[in-house]
Amino acid sequence: MKYALNNGARIEASKGTRGTCPCCGSELIARCGDIKIHHWAHKSSCDPWWETETEWHRLWKNRYPPKWQEFLTLDEETGERHIADVKTEADLIIEFQHSAIDPQERLQRERHYKNLIWVVDGTRLKRDFKRFSNQYNELIKTNKPGIFLIDHDEGIFNKSWLTSSVPVIFDFKGINPTDGDHDIRNSLYCLLQIKLGRYSIIAEFSREAFIKSTINGTWSIHIQNFINAISPKKAPDSHQNQTNPTKPKDGSHFFDPKSGKWKRRTRW
Ligand SMILES: [Zn+2]
Repeated sequence: MKYALNNGARIEASKGTRGTCPCCGSELIARCGDIKIHHWAHKSSCDPWWETETEWHRLWKNRYPPKWQEFLTLDEETGERHIADVKTEADLIIEFQHSAIDPQERLQRERHYKNLIWVVDGTRLKRDFKRFSNQYNELIKTNKPGIFLIDHDEGIFNKSWLTSSVPVIFDFKGINPTDGDHDIRNSLYCLLQIKLGRYSIIAEFSREAFIKSTINGTWSIHIQNFINAISPKKAPDSHQNQTNPTKPKDGSHFFDPKSGKWKRRTRW
């Protein structure tokens, strides 16, 4: 953990300091070696959901105000306590996930936190970005810039996240440099939890826009606007009998959910 309690204050680990866990109250050990990021360690962790922090994890957390980081949450019904990576003033929980996660635990965490977004380290498995970049050109553009549909989302993202009940954001850049401004890893890709017919919905945005909107509290409004713009109940495959029944292959058209038709692209 980044923070421990010391005389009621949250302090970071440094050599020779002492602190206790804000969740269970046990004494923590300051780990300040040269290789791993400095952190506080339990003799054995009290929060089964806690994962050893990577540099990626810590960098993401540090983009938010310190008092939002490592936020202690309590389920009043069950008495369960967990430390969320970030809780914003708008009561949005952001969990940064580097390791693989068991589907059952993922679901438990979604239920406990409710208003949650996952940010997933898409660099842990090389094949995850390979799969994504192979499918990137298959994303179907919509009338809303930055919003795409995809048929067969199992072909584009790691399958352990496909049935999530909350938005999942994939960060394929991680802490690595990219190949310039046009590298698709500069953006974040958010798999929304709702579908349009058989199509999954993906929102692409910059990490700056994501951080800004989660800090200023407009994230939920943005997501709702995305969903409203895209979801007038008509999926591309529900129009087999119309004049424009299938997706033109040459990228000259986009799908307009308002009319339920493919339209000729005028900008892009
Ligand atoms: Zn503890």
